[in-house]
Amino acid sequence: MECKVFKFGGASIKDVEGFINVGKIIIHFEKENLVIVISALGKTTNALEEVVKTWFYQKPGAKDLLMNVKNSHQQIAAALLKDSSSVFNEINDLIVEIEWIIEESPQEKFDYYYDQIVSIGEMLSTKILAYYLTELGLPAVWVDARDIIQTDNTYRDARIDWENTQKKADHILKKFLEQQKMVITQGFIGCSSENFTTTLGREGSDYTAAVLSYCLDAGSMHIWKDVQGVLTADPRLFQNVIKLPRLSYKEAIEMTYYGAKVIHPKTIKPLQNKNIPLYVRPFDDSESEGTLISDVLELSYPPVIVIEPNQCLLHIASNDFSFVAEHHLSRIFSLLDKHRIKVNMMRNTAISFTICTSYIPDKIEAFRVELGKEFNMVIDDELELVTIRHYNEETLQNMKKNRLVLLEERLRNTIQMVIKNLPEMKRIEG
Ligand code: ASP
Ligand code: MG
Repeated sequence: MECKVFKFGGASIKDVEGFINVGKIIIHFEKENLVIVISALGKTTNALEEVVKTWFYQKPGAKDLLMNVKNSHQQIAAALLKDSSSVFNEINDLIVEIEWIIEESPQEKFDYYYDQIVSIGEMLSTKILAYYLTELGLPAVWVDARDIIQTDNTYRDARIDWENTQKKADHILKKFLEQQKMVITQGFIGCSSENFTTTLGREGSDYTAAVLSYCLDAGSMHIWKDVQGVLTADPRLFQNVIKLPRLSYKEAIEMTYYGAKVIHPKTIKPLQNKNIPLYVRPFDDSESEGTLISDVLELSYPPVIVIEPNQCLLHIASNDFSFVAEHHLSRIFSLLDKHRIKVNMMRNTAISFTICTSYIPDKIEAFRVELGKEFNMVIDDELELVTIRHYNEETLQNMKKNRLVLLEERLRNTIQMVIKNLPEMKRIEG
């Protein structure tokens, strides 16, 4: 049975109007078999991250932060629903579970607690939506994504166990769809084989929708967003941004790999593997098809600019002036992998090796410590990584204005530059 998988992000359900709008879109597609994947409301995930950090590092105020999350959900539920008593109980139960955790002092690793706590954002949002759709007379059924999405136990970056996820999707979701139910479930979260909650990485709801699309052989997947589709650059940073009506899977993978935030980078592969078209469409205009991403022969594209902020350069040199040779590189790479430091760009010279990566101080510090005595590492931070796909000289020269280019690499379709916006550079000696 062919279904459509919809995904709504936090921005589309940040307030009562958002829920009402989502309801309208769903009614519009009421005749279809729908699986609806939802993120947490608005900035809830950030708020819950603060709860975990505050409690884990034993600072005061975690409980108050949690109560803010509870109150904001109750307010929306009260304003949205005719009868909010049942959902109030459910909200309460979810919050109480977290209260129990944060009443004790932490015994396990941070990432484990992160997933147990932050995941309730999606639990709360889907509960509210499921009640609302039911009040609208739709055959909504709330499904716990942790009963479907099986993962390993890499907290905060869990990998999908495809075999078991497929079995569960067949067993649970297909049954609901055959009964003409409309499935409402959480993005971003999964379950390990030990039955603990895991998460798939920030903004991972798109990926959940793609995993489910794959397992259900969906006819299409639709990401509803607060933009017109996939654009040639971030409209908050650039003028004259245009929407790309069509993209190939390959182009979409490249763009997201370089940091385009419009879809989660892992989303495309499962869809491409089964040739499932993906629509990125505006939630304020359900008639517009937005951008269609599918299996097309390479199209020609205008220049597309992707900016990855918060970058740094790590200059790694051997201490004794020996060449940074292959065996050094292999050691450096195995440590990068171990510390899950993603290399966005790299360059080697006689006695040093430079990489561009996101500036995440605790990860980089742990990496530096492990590099040990053989190497010396210098960090340049407060940088940006600019990628221009399908560049032309004009776009390139415009991007270079008032910026210092520290590293540049040109390939056939792509140019990448690590840039500094300010005149003076801050160096942290390490
Ligand atoms: N709520 C999660 C986040 O904000 C997942 C998502 O939005 O896709 O990262
Ligand atoms: Mg979100």
